[in-house]
This record gives sequence, structure tokens and C-alpha cells, in this order.
Amino acid sequence: MRCISLLGATGSIGVNVLDVIRQFPDLYKVVAMAAGTNVARLAEQVKEFKPELISVGDEQLARGLRLLLPSAYHDRIVHGTEGNIQVAAFPSADLTVSAIVGAAGLLPTLAAIEAGKDIGLANKETLVMAGRIVMTAVAQKGIRLLPVDSEHSAIFQALEAGRRKDLRKIILTASGGPFRGMSLDQLQHVSREQALNHPNWSMGRKISIDSATLMNKGLEVIEARWLFEVAGDAIEVVVHPQSIVHSLVEYNDGSVLAQLGIPDMRIPISYALSYPARLPLALQPLNLARCGNLEFLEPDYDSFPALKLAFSALESGGVLPAVLNSANEVAVSAFLDGKITFPQIAETVARTMDIVHQGSENILEDILGADGAARREAHCLIENIH
Ligand code: NAD
Ligand code: MG
Repeated sequence: MRCISLLGATGSIGVNVLDVIRQFPDLYKVVAMAAGTNVARLAEQVKEFKPELISVGDEQLARGLRLLLPSAYHDRIVHGTEGNIQVAAFPSADLTVSAIVGAAGLLPTLAAIEAGKDIGLANKETLVMAGRIVMTAVAQKGIRLLPVDSEHSAIFQALEAGRRKDLRKIILTASGGPFRGMSLDQLQHVSREQALNHPNWSMGRKISIDSATLMNKGLEVIEARWLFEVAGDAIEVVVHPQSIVHSLVEYNDGSVLAQLGIPDMRIPISYALSYPARLPLALQPLNLARCGNLEFLEPDYDSFPALKLAFSALESGGVLPAVLNSANEVAVSAFLDGKITFPQIAETVARTMDIVHQGSENILEDILGADGAARREAHCLIENIH
């Protein structure tokens, strides 16, 4: 029996994690869970999975959650960043699934690593912001950092077929999102609803917008750099609209290995939970004949400059990847609030990166400082648009 702590229980990934666990009650037990604001859904999850510790966004939400749960739970509810950290590092947990969205995932994920937990990592922002610090802590603690992101799970699996020193490059696939094929001019007029409507995956709002701008792929390039210890110029992005080939690796002899499957996050989630075993998931098998044509195209860097920004943040290093991420979070939420246009998301990120760039990737205070400064600058830039 593996004991699981789940950060981001009520989100798209969290719900899928619980769905996998529900199918294998003899293998997994949820001992702690954390979520932000959706106390109604969290209360239902707590009643079903009976964790020992629960955290929510703030004190008021904690009071609201207490009203929805039997009194036995009342002193097992904590809140805020400190609550997330307690859940992440919960003593009896063997593996912590990090599936909070955004920079809020960083400190709890680091706390789980420090506490010696294995990590199932969905929160890519953690590695984008503080990849060096996180990977150093992973090595020091000797824990396993298992990717949940579908592309990284695919690469992780393909890397098992060869020796690391024979690796030539990593090829990340991108669906291209709902706006594939559009010009920058056409993108001026797209709506929030169109941007949220991803063709292949059902995901949280922030990552759906990131998929539409291709910032998601940019964040994944940086995530891959740290997870697999490869240089930025050994990472390539190819657009693959069908989302069947989840990513590939190329070895020195020209052999290219890929992982394929239907686009369902329960596959990479279950592999992170069960590695190196595989769980017999009750999902539709991949039917290649019914998939029809699989296409592979060059990304369009002109219409989707966010991807280029991520490569350049990776090349510059320091705190720039954290600045890219934080400015993007602010810009995405401004776009969702109707304050800026779709192309202004990447513009805001680019301009913030020009302004905020001082600091070391080895110092957590520098990264948190850059995160705060980038948020302030991005807010300021967005206010000045009006
Ligand atoms: P989501 O918005 O659906 O869910 C986010 C979860 O985090 C919710 O449970 C929310 O309550 C919680 N949360 C937010 N802020 C919090 C805070 N301050 N404290 C505690 N909990 C907080 O997002 P998602 O789509 O599930 O994505 C989660 C993470 O996984 C993101 O980093 C995303 O990039 C990554 N990811 C998602 C997918 C996917 O298919 N959805 C795929 C790959 C990677
Ligand atoms: Mg992904």
C-alpha cells in the first residue's frame, strides 16, 4: 500500500489522480490533500477518500469546509501556504503528487522533497522557476521525481530504452492548440472562450490558455531541461495536432523512440504512481487505424512568440525563467478577465523580462524576489495598456 499526499486535489489533474486511485484501492491510500477555493468539491473528496490532513486556501475557506464535514475532521483542517506545506510533507506519505497550478506549487513541492517524499510532478512551474534548486534537492535527498506531464512521461519512458550518453536530442510534441494556423493579426481578435476550448485535452483554465499561446510548450522545454539534464539546444519542438505521439527521443545512431497513447492524463498519472510497474487501466485502447493520419509540423514562432521567449529565458538562465513564468501568470489572468488581448499575453511577458532579470538561479530568495518583482511589473504594464 502506497500512501499518497495530493496537492491540487480539486483540479483537473487532482480529479484524475483520484480517479486512478479509486480504481486501485488495494494499492493506494490518500493520507493528505490540499486545494484552493473549491470547498464543495473538496468536501466530497474528503468524505470518499478520508485523508488524515486537509488544507484549503485560507482561514475563511477552512471554516466553510468545517461546516461541510463531520466534526471528527474539524481539527484536521489547515490552510494557506503553511497548510500546503504540511500536506506536502505529511509524515506517513510515500509520494506527494504536486498538482497545484502556478508558482504556489513551488514551496510545497520543495518541502515534500526536503521531507524525503517521492514526487509525482504535474506542477511544471516548480521546475521552470527553480529547476536548479529543485534538482539539487532531489539529488541530495535521493528521492524520485516522476513526471506527470504527458510529454515528459513519454520522454521518461523512451529514455529507458537507451543509455543517457547515447542521447542526441529530445523532441517535444505540441498539439498547436485551438489557434494553430492563425496569423498574429487574426489572433488579435480571438476570445477567451475560443482560447479555453482545447481540441484534444480537457484541462484547467491557466494551462488551457498556455496551450493556446504555446507558452505551455515553452514551460515544458524548460521543465525537460531540468528533468532530463539536457541543454536547451538539444530540445526540439514539433507540432503534432492529433496528440497521439506524446513525445520522442533521438539517439546517436538516428533511432527515434516515442511513446504513443490516447490523450488521457490518467495514463501518465498512473505511471508516476506505479513506476516501474504499469497499472491495468480501464481505458479505451489506442486504435491506430482509426487515428488516420498523424501530422508533424514546424512550430510557427511568429504567431506564437511565447515559445521563443521560453527558449531565450532558458538560454539566459538566472531568474529569467521564473520571471517568464510569473509575468505569464499575471498576463493569463488579465486575459481571462478581459483586460488584455491574446497577443498581449506574450508582449507582457517579453516586456517584463526586459525589466526584471537580476538574480541567481541558485538562491531561492532571488527567485522569490524576481517572482514578486515580475508580478508587480506585469501588473503595471497591463494597467498602462488602458
Ligand atoms: P486546475 O486549475 O484544474 O487545478 C489547480 C488545482 O490547484 C486546484 O485544485 C486548485 O484548488 C489548486 N490550487 C490553486 N491555487 C492553490 C493554492 N494557492 N493552494 C492550494 N491549492 C491551490 O489546474 P490543472 O489543469 O489541474 O493543472 C495543475 C498543474 O498541472 C499545472 O501546473 C499544470 O500546468 C499541470 N498540468 C496539467 C495538465 C492537465 O491536463 N490539466 C497536464 C500537464 C500538466
Ligand atoms: Mg504537457
